[in-house]
Amino acid sequence: MTHTPQDPIVVLGGGPAGMASALALRTAGHDVVILERYREARPAGNILNLWPPPIKALGLMGVDTTDLGAPCHSTFRNARGDIRADVQIPDDVVTAYGGGFIGMLRPDLYRRMLAALPDGMLQTNQEVVGIRDTGGEVVLTLKDGTMRRTPLLIGADGIDSIVRTHLWGVSPKREHRLQIIGGYTFDDVPAAEKGEAIIAHTRTVQGSYTSIRSDGRDGFQWWVLEACDPDAPAPADLRGHARRGARGFGAPLTTLIDHTTDDHVQRWVIRDRKPLKAWSRGRITLAGDAAHATSPYAAYGAGMSIGDGYFLGKLLAGVDLHDTAAVTAALTEYDRIRIPHTTMQVQQAYILGKVFHHAPAVLRPLRDAVMDHTSMLQKQIGERSPREIDAQLDEMGAGITAPA
Ligand SMILES: Cc1cc2nc3c(=O)[nH]c(=O)nc-3n(C[C@H](O)[C@H](O)[C@H](O)COP(=O)(O)OP(=O)(O)OC[C@H]3O[C@@H](n4cnc5c(N)ncnc54)[C@H](O)[C@@H]3O)c2cc1C
Repeated sequence: MTHTPQDPIVVLGGGPAGMASALALRTAGHDVVILERYREARPAGNILNLWPPPIKALGLMGVDTTDLGAPCHSTFRNARGDIRADVQIPDDVVTAYGGGFIGMLRPDLYRRMLAALPDGMLQTNQEVVGIRDTGGEVVLTLKDGTMRRTPLLIGADGIDSIVRTHLWGVSPKREHRLQIIGGYTFDDVPAAEKGEAIIAHTRTVQGSYTSIRSDGRDGFQWWVLEACDPDAPAPADLRGHARRGARGFGAPLTTLIDHTTDDHVQRWVIRDRKPLKAWSRGRITLAGDAAHATSPYAAYGAGMSIGDGYFLGKLLAGVDLHDTAAVTAALTEYDRIRIPHTTMQVQQAYILGKVFHHAPAVLRPLRDAVMDHTSMLQKQIGERSPREIDAQLDEMGAGITAPA
């Protein structure tokens, strides 16, 4: 049994990685479906920021990014507000992509991506439970027993990816022993700085906020990140717990928390998986958290997921899916381009979490003196991030070219 020309590429999972992969592969001229296990593609969470590369990628795959969020200039600060690192994105990049770090609500990103999908591309209530790569095609078994055949499977099925397990075996989750509680408000809080993303640290807690924009309304999102016992029950009063954690920062962070209603507050325990050395094998590859689950310390997991999708489209444009060698070559190039970049982000986010929240108490004053009085954080984050963003934008090129 080999796949027929009418069998579409299957993207497993309707999250940011899956929708981006499908849109980019369609832009490249391929027929694609997304199989999503739930009855709708729904965002797990509320708050989100995107850097310019995913904004560029979204635009080039047909997603309307106009006024998608609030453009923010980002600084890392100590609890007194002194700047430790200033992420200066060049003006031309800010102008071209509507800002440096764009603060938004996750459901808004979903709505824009869903609106760009052609009818029928997203197929819901389709949980895949089995995968077999025969060499000439991939055969999928769904929970209801039906079979699907595809020339190419993209596993965009999140941190608990069955595609990743099929390809590379079981690997344990890496426990960061951190939790993040975050929320948002559209109340006017005059003391909060508009157009800024402020990422601040006390000796043990990160307390941050950024502007957001949603449906033409301006507001703020905030989060409080701290060490936790991942096996302990979640605090009963999330907002109260975050408020206590934010005491070391004072206003405006505490005021933003006071102005947030309980239904706009969520908590996540932070886990990732150690980066893989290879993603693709045969006619199967990975994208998004399935490939590189990342701590929110990077605030880049969704951004990288969208980037993965973009490069899949770019590298598979013009590839005859019947030609196994050509498919393999495109996926090998995809691994070559994406793995070093995403691995570096995953590891950096993991290390930052350790440095800021798990340093021995005796070393914390020394750590903070280094952060406050040397250019270390400015070099590591303030200068490196704009360089990386520039390199990503360059590597993306002018777009995805479908064959004539
Ligand atoms: C608190 C928090 C804050 C964050 N902030 C940011 C940020 O500011 N910026 C940023 O870029 N990133 C951020 N991230 C990271 C970002 O949320 C993730 O990296 C991103 O959602 C991953 O997208 P994905 O499509 O790979 O996976 P998911 O969003 O997990 O989507 C996977 C999809 O696959 C489906 N699926 C799974 N298994 C199957 C199956 N067997 N059959 C069919 N369907 C299946 C699922 O139902 C789901 O819809 C944050 C994460 C957290 C927790």
